[in-house]
Parts: sequence; C-alpha cells; structure tokens
Amino acid sequence: MFKNLIKTAAIAACMTLAAPSAWAQDLLARQAPVDKKMRAVDSIAIQRLFQAEELEDPAAELYPNWEDEQINLYGNVTLPDEYKIDLRGFCMPTTNRIVTSNYGYRPRFRRQHKGIDINANKGDTIRAAFDGKVRVVDFQSSGYGNVVVIRHPNGLETVYGHLSKHLTKKGATLKAGDPIGLAGNTGFSFGTHLHFETRLLGEYIDPAKLFDFANQDVTGDFYVFRGRGRGTLIGKHDTNGEAGNDEEVRYTSSESAAAKAQAQQDARQAARTRIHKVRKGETLSSIARKHGISLDKLRRMNGLKNKSKIRPGQILKYS
Ligand SMILES: [Zn+2]
Repeated sequence: MFKNLIKTAAIAACMTLAAPSAWAQDLLARQAPVDKKMRAVDSIAIQRLFQAEELEDPAAELYPNWEDEQINLYGNVTLPDEYKIDLRGFCMPTTNRIVTSNYGYRPRFRRQHKGIDINANKGDTIRAAFDGKVRVVDFQSSGYGNVVVIRHPNGLETVYGHLSKHLTKKGATLKAGDPIGLAGNTGFSFGTHLHFETRLLGEYIDPAKLFDFANQDVTGDFYVFRGRGRGTLIGKHDTNGEAGNDEEVRYTSSESAAAKAQAQQDARQAARTRIHKVRKGETLSSIARKHGISLDKLRRMNGLKNKSKIRPGQILKYS
C-alpha cells in the first residue's frame, strides 16, 4: 500500500509541470496566519524554497563547477567514497519499455557502451528523469547527435542522445517529466532510439541499476554509490510484493551512515538560505531595507509581482 502511494506520487510528479517558483509561491499564498498551523507550513514552505534554490545550482556540494559546453569535464575530481542518490520523484524519460542495447562492453564497436538504449519512434517525447537544470544542449555529428545533459539535485547527471530535436535550452530549470526533446536517430546511431546515461560526477553508472524500463519504475527509492560499478539499492521496489530481502538487511548500517551524510548535506544547504518571516506592520520595502537588499531583488527572489501583497506569517527568502 505504502509503495503504491510512493509510486502514485512519482507519477503525479511527472504530470505536475508547474515552475518551482510558481508552486512555492502558491504554497506561500495559502499560508494561514495562524501560529498553531505555522510550524508545519513553515517547514514545508522552507523545504519548497530550498528545492527551488537547489534547482538554480543542483548538487553544488558535489560538483566543483558549472560548465555548459563540454559533457565530460571531471578529470581531476575525487569521487566520494559513498553517495546516496535519491531516486524518488523520478519520471521515466520515455514510456517505451524495450531495451535494445545494455550498458557495458560491446564487441561490435570494441568499446564500452556507457549508457542504455531504449527503443523509440521518431518524435516520441523524451522527458527529464528528475528535477534539474539543463547543463549542455549540443549537436555532436559523430557521437551523441542532438544531446541534452541535465544536472539534478540528487547528484546525478543524465544524458539523452540521438534526439531528432531539442525542446529545452541551456540553463533551463526543469521539473521531472518536463519535455526536453524528441526521439531520433542523429549522430552515431543506427535506428531511432534513446541513448540514456546516468552519471555521478562524470562516473558512469549502469542506468539499469537505477531505472527499470520494462516496468517503468525506478529500482529502489535510493541508490548508494560506492565507486565504480559498486552500489547498493535501499528501499527496493519489489514488484512481486516480497518484503525485505537479505540485501536490505545487510546494508542497514551503511544506510544510517548515508543518512547521516545526507543530513549534513541538508544542513549545509539550509545554512546557505536566509529566510524572513513577515511580522505585523512590515512591508516589502522595510524587509528589503532590513536585510540590505533592493526591493526588486527581494521581489525577484520570491517570485512576487509589483502589486503582490505580503501578510504576517509569510516566509520570504532574502539570500
Ligand atoms: Zn547507446
């Protein structure tokens, strides 16, 4: 039952295409100035604001830079020993279920296939696998063809190759499920398909470890990356309904270590964001003055229009 709920939520995330700033603001607009209710709403609103901010610079604690020309640029970075990747909130990049070529060594081309190929019809809509920010939009005639690379707050970067058309731009912030291109056969490709890669800091991860295309689902709620070719699923989606297998039991202690790392990461993120709760009698101008920023900037950061009103209890971000 719980798993079904999670899945429903994931599908809903696919369908909800509202811009993050819009829904964060919508949430703020619905805040009642009743203190009893405030704490819960505050935490949700703050969480939403963090999420919106994360999309501006996804997984900033992991990546040393933002580069929008080259797909591979992580030559000298050190991979973390362990990194917990949150797979919840996914959207399958294509509704097609047929894998035509797996990840791994391909004798025919004498090289590694660093992604997975999914069957597609020309013009099929290809969607962002998670919320994220578009890093590269390019055409590479002898390789990926039309390609899109997205960096996600969960640390992953996803690569979508051989598209017939791009439907997004560099720097665009996306929700999971937003269309990013149409399937095609451009670049080094023989037949229309989606070439899909999943990477962490430039390190390839077999997409089949994360995404189950046949069942249109992720393989678990979390994947803990532990170096090349190694990782563990947590909260395995057992479609047969078999609860708790050995694997889950075996990794319980690592899960708590990963949870600790995640909490530290969250705390660092929280520390970067400053939030102001509107008090009675305050105006946007007085708040802007108080925090030493311009009225325009304050409005912009909070997605407020010139005529937008604020009210006591509302939460504003100011840095
Ligand atoms: Zn491929």
